[in-house]
This record gives sequence, C-alpha cells and structure tokens, in this order.
Amino acid sequence: MRYNSYDLVVIGTGFASSFFLHKFLRKAPATAKVLVLEKGHFFPHAERVKEKRGEETPYARLNPAYKDTFENHNPEKKWVFTQGFGGSSNCWYGCTPRFMPADFKMKTLYGVGNDWPLQYDDLENYYTQVEEIMSISGPADTPFPKKSGYPLPPHLFATADEILHKEYGNLYISQPTARARVAVNGRNACCASTVCHVCPVNAKFTIENSNMGVYEDPRVELLYGAQVHSLNLEQNVARSANFIKDGKEHRVAGEVIVLGTNALFNANILLNSGDSNPFTGKGIGEQLGLEASVYLHNLENVGGSTWVNANGYMLYDGEHRKEYAACLMESNNAPYYRMERGKWRHIANFRMVFEGLPEAHNYVATTSDSMRPAVHYKGPSEYTLRGVEKMKLKLPEILACLPVEKIVYGKPFDSEAHILGTTRMSANPTEGVVDKHLLHHQYRNLFVLGSGSFTTYTPSNPTLTLSALSLYAADNSF
Ligand SMILES: Cc1cc2nc3c(=O)[nH]c(=O)nc-3n(C[C@H](O)[C@H](O)[C@H](O)COP(=O)(O)OP(=O)(O)OC[C@H]3O[C@@H](n4cnc5c(N)ncnc54)[C@H](O)[C@@H]3O)c2cc1C
Ligand code: SF4
Repeated sequence: MRYNSYDLVVIGTGFASSFFLHKFLRKAPATAKVLVLEKGHFFPHAERVKEKRGEETPYARLNPAYKDTFENHNPEKKWVFTQGFGGSSNCWYGCTPRFMPADFKMKTLYGVGNDWPLQYDDLENYYTQVEEIMSISGPADTPFPKKSGYPLPPHLFATADEILHKEYGNLYISQPTARARVAVNGRNACCASTVCHVCPVNAKFTIENSNMGVYEDPRVELLYGAQVHSLNLEQNVARSANFIKDGKEHRVAGEVIVLGTNALFNANILLNSGDSNPFTGKGIGEQLGLEASVYLHNLENVGGSTWVNANGYMLYDGEHRKEYAACLMESNNAPYYRMERGKWRHIANFRMVFEGLPEAHNYVATTSDSMRPAVHYKGPSEYTLRGVEKMKLKLPEILACLPVEKIVYGKPFDSEAHILGTTRMSANPTEGVVDKHLLHHQYRNLFVLGSGSFTTYTPSNPTLTLSALSLYAADNSF
C-alpha cells in the first residue's frame, strides 16, 4: 500500500466495483489516488480452462471455495458465487436482459413490495453504456423500450423459438446476451457449447477480458489478498476500512469508500461495522426457477447459436402481478435429448424464472468469525409460489402454437445464482439502506453497490442492471 489515505477506496473487483470505477476514473482528476482491496487473487482464464480439463494449476489454490466463506443455515437453498479478481464474472453465464419499466414501480402499479427510487428512464442511457462495454448481442425489437440497437447481432433461434417468435413478436425475442454472437474485442464468437461456467473459447464478457482499462489505470493501486471485515463509521462518515492481508491487520482511510463485495458480504461488513439501519442484511432473496420440458410431436427442434437462445415475456408483466409473480421464460439450448428412437430432438426445454419478494425472515447475520456471515433463508414467498401454480395452468395455452405432446416440470432449482436485496434502495431512510445513488442513507461518503440494492426482485437476470446502477451512481455523484 503506497499511502495511508486515498481519495477513493473500492472493495471488490466484480461487475459492481469495475463499472463504478470505469465511470469514476473518467471524471476524476489525473492526481486522484484510488486503492482497490480484493480479497482473492487473479486466476487467468487460460488457467481456469486448464482446471476445467482436470489439469493442475497453481492458481486453483489461491482463491477460497465459495462454500467455505459463509454459513448456510438452509442447506436446501444454495447461494453461489466466485471470489477473486473479477468476482462472479468468471463463472456467470452472460444472460443480460434489461428490466421492464414496470419492475421499478411495483407498488404504484400492483400494490406489491416498494417502488424503486429511480425509474427505467433514469437508467436507459446507462443500460446502453453497459451494453456497449459488454458488446451485447441482441435483437432490434424488444419488449422494453430501447433508444438504440444492440452492438452485436442477435443469436439465432432454434426451430421452436422461431415458431414462438412468429406467434408473439417482441414478447418472444432472441436473448440479449454477453455471449458474443460474432468475435469482438478480443473475444471469440459463442459456439453454443453450454459450459459457460468457464467458457472454453472466451466468448462471454468477463472483467478480465473487458478491456475497460480500469485496473491498468496509473491512478489505481490494486491490492490482492486483502480481506475487508469492517469499516470505521464515525459521526455519519465512513472514515476507513479494516482488512487482513498476509495474516496482519491493516487500516486505510478513504475520502469516499465503495463496497462492491456482493449482497452477502456488503451486509456482513456493514453489520460488523455497527451500521444500525434496521434493513441492513434483511430480505436476502432471489428468483425461483424450474425446468419445463416440452415434448413435441414430430418437430425437430434444432439450431440456435448459443446456450439460452431466447427469452419469452408472455407471463411477465401485467395486472396479474397484483396477485402472483411475473415469469420470464428462458429457452434453453443445452443438448437435451428425448430418450426415444427417432425422436431425439422432438423436445424443447425452458427455464421458467419467477420473481421474488424481499421478506424480513430471510436475512444475513454476523457470526463469531467476522469474515463469515450467516444466511438464514426460509424459502420463496407465497407470491412467487402462486406464480408457479398459475404458470402451470397457463403454459399449455401459451404453447398452443407448438405441436405439444406433454409438458414435464422439474423440481425448483436450488439456486438461480443471484443474491439480491440485503441493502435495499429506497427514497427515504425509513424504508431502506441506500438512496438512488447507492449512497448509504446515513454515511454519505459510503457507496454500497450491487444487487443487494435491488428494491424488488424482478425475474430478469440482475447483472446488466447492477452494472448500469454503478455507472449511474458514479456519474451522478462526482
Ligand atoms: C454460475 C453463475 C451464473 C450466473 N449467470 C448470470 C447471468 O447469466 N446473468 C446475470 O445477470 N447474472 C448472472 N450471475 C450473477 C452475477 O454473476 C452476479 O450478479 C454478479 O457477479 C454480481 O456482481 P458484484 O460485483 O456485485 O459481485 P461479485 O461478482 O460477487 O464480486 C464481488 C467481489 O468482491 C470480492 N470480495 C468479497 N468479499 C470481500 C472482502 N471481504 N474483502 C475484499 N474483497 C471481497 C470478491 O472476491 C469479488 O471480487 C451468475 C452467477 C453465477 C454464480
Ligand atoms: S455457450 Fe459455450 S461458447 Fe457460448 S459463452 Fe457459453 S461456454 Fe462460451
């Protein structure tokens, strides 16, 4: 560490921190001093591919196994992530739909949850910027408003997707995705190998391949192996961060401090620091997903150019959200086979993803180990479960344009790999932890980034939106 005090101290190197830094550095003076504290280490893509092939790599031992980093009090529910440089950008799957405008005003429109303190139009410009940086592939016509086209062409539909698109137009679209349709920016084209956890051809966007120039910037000092456990909060100001590196305790002061360690660890660090906001740590949640296998009569469902080919919005927005959860349909192009001679590909697979709601009995708490938070999670909301039941009633009608023989549902998945809502955003401090600029309501030099800030839990994947929020926060605060 070069100094004892910095203009900006950023904690974590995932999407949330990296997009925030990207915007901050464009606005900051040449003399700005920025320190980034990263708990883990750099594990290059080529070495991850080796590990995936079962080969030895010394990098594999550097970062902690995510399961060891927290206590899970409900083993039926998984919370999944990767630590180290780039965070879960290393293992994410790259599905990047925008939210729908209604997602931001659930209370006004449907009397459910709360309204976000910012609206779709506030984020539109930042969505576009993230889509440019991630080189998103997507269609010309979308169910959410969009002022400009996607940077890359859309992925190709499979046969069943083509039929559904013809029936439903822009309610059934090629999925907007960070899995590149064509080679771009040092990334190769996605070839639908469906092992996106470690993409063998480096097609999906990651912080490592992002070319954002953030961590190479001479104003930025990046410290690996620096695990932050708390902040010093005094008189409504976050003064400094406390971290352990090489077994020793350290402290560094920051004019501005930014937490980007994900919804689990942001809450833990705040709680360790004595943050008394009653919402801190409360309401951890996510979407609920389950598989619908659709057996088709004499229809070869083939083609498609990526893993999740398409998104269906037929069960997403509308008055029904007063009663039950919205559902996003993801068309899954992994190689599913029907175990019947001559009918191998007479099947389509969908992941039905339902929105969640924040509930106080689902929460993050500290433990005697300041580095290891506990997650207490009882289960999905009644609202979400009602959505599942209604979907089962409606899906046959929605799929009537396909020659459906039968639909077989799987059990709900134990995770959608998203962690939402432990530091929720609100217009005022009586309803949440951060304001619309992701600034803590009480500590006005402390940003708390990421999907922990989500006010409600739409069925859409969170990362495009949390990255846009980081750009918005940095752009409107400096
Ligand atoms: C398998 C998988 C697939 C996914 N697929 C998708 C998808 O298709 N679409 C989508 O939208 N989202 C997807 N996600 C979710 C997405 O990865 C997350 O929303 C996103 O990574 C969150 O970004 P973040 O920067 O807030 O946190 P993270 O990516 O979790 O980054 C947190 C960073 O903080 C560091 N850190 C943690 N604790 C400390 C500490 N105490 N001190 C210092 N540093 C610390 C970590 O090492 C890491 O660098 C997926 C996730 C997984 C696991
Ligand atoms: S589908 Fe295959 S090529 Fe495409 S991003 Fe995933 S792993 Fe990479």
